[in-house]
Amino acid sequence: MSRTVQWDDDLRADRVADTFRKLFGGSPDGVWAAPGRVNLIGEHTDYNDGFALPIALPQTTLLAARPRTDGRLRLHSAQGDGRVIDLAPAALAPGAVPGWAGYPVGVVWALAEAGHPVGAGADLHFDSTVPTGAGLSSSAALECAVAVAYDELYGLRLPRPELARIAQRAENAFVGVPCGIMDQMASVCCTAEAALHLDARTPERHRQVPFDLHGQGLRLLVIDTRVTHDLGDGAYAALRAGCERAAALLGLPALRDLPAGELPRALDTLPAELAPLVRHVATENARVAEAVDRLLEGKVAALGPILTAGHASLRDDYRVSCPETDLAVTAALRAGALGARMTGGGFGGSVIALVEAGRESAVGGSVTTAFSTAGHRPPRILDAAPAAGARRLGTR
Ligand code: ADP
Ligand code: MG
Repeated sequence: MSRTVQWDDDLRADRVADTFRKLFGGSPDGVWAAPGRVNLIGEHTDYNDGFALPIALPQTTLLAARPRTDGRLRLHSAQGDGRVIDLAPAALAPGAVPGWAGYPVGVVWALAEAGHPVGAGADLHFDSTVPTGAGLSSSAALECAVAVAYDELYGLRLPRPELARIAQRAENAFVGVPCGIMDQMASVCCTAEAALHLDARTPERHRQVPFDLHGQGLRLLVIDTRVTHDLGDGAYAALRAGCERAAALLGLPALRDLPAGELPRALDTLPAELAPLVRHVATENARVAEAVDRLLEGKVAALGPILTAGHASLRDDYRVSCPETDLAVTAALRAGALGARMTGGGFGGSVIALVEAGRESAVGGSVTTAFSTAGHRPPRILDAAPAAGARRLGTR
């Protein structure tokens, strides 16, 4: 699997370099790839200083890049509107760059803000296979491609978790999305054949947990429901604020600091609207720990019930699922999936289902039929496997 994907990426790298030549004249200095991700378990925990367990996807955003000397940034995306965006250095201010270019330009801005000498500008061409807006973190892939490319082009040699922080800062402060650090950590730090055990309080102390999906006769389906409910952005910020308020009321730096034994008492004392949020975060952190233990024992199939319990918590306590994600989970389980849950921020996006090899089409078919019966658009189904994090690719 990983060898096929690597080959694909190298072929794509040549094509991306060719397009770069047509757009900007001359060759790029290199082509970099940064993947999207799915999180196995640990949702809405990162901004509570908690734990998560993402894998990188084989789907990547490729970036052909070359530094300039005049400070200008020229950007083009194969998934954009065809125009080359050409920005003068003065445009590097939060709010000044609308649309998709805010993500990559935000990374350059965040690097400069952190004192790194990246002001000479660059020509950047992107081409991605990460579905956008599907909860698979195409935004982090876009940011992290720039972070790793700049790290090399400008000789910064920053540790990977620092690149993740820079990319997160771009999304938070330049684009204005208050995301945690999981997506960017997954994109830059994941390795093939492993899941990334992330402690969002100390990202530099992440560890790779063997995730021998195929070796154990299992598959991981990613079911993109192709719905995004608009309430997403505002609701995310409100949930985050609710968690911060709950932590303050409990006298804790963050919800991650609530000892398991104190959960019942905390739930009794908190206002009714905050208690379920705290229950989700506490039980979800415990589910990450349990999932890591099972993986370290080599029991990948044992993740199934943990995933399904995580979905119930997101649906009933955190209330970020929606009819389409609930239906995808139910239909996958009915067709024999070992476990399933929504992944990503919620209000649509994607569902993951752990299935025995050979059951992929039965499970996928069950979800597709259920969607058709309910009058939803057909979902898009990907076969996921743990892939490598951001890296430089070879070109001709
Ligand atoms: P997700 O990260 O789950 O895919 P987001 O809403 O966070 O969803 O990010 C999606 C946005 O990222 C798109 O609307 C677009 O602005 C930007 N984006 C991601 N990948 C690309 C790309 N290859 N080209 C242009 N814009 C992209
Ligand atoms: Mg995103």
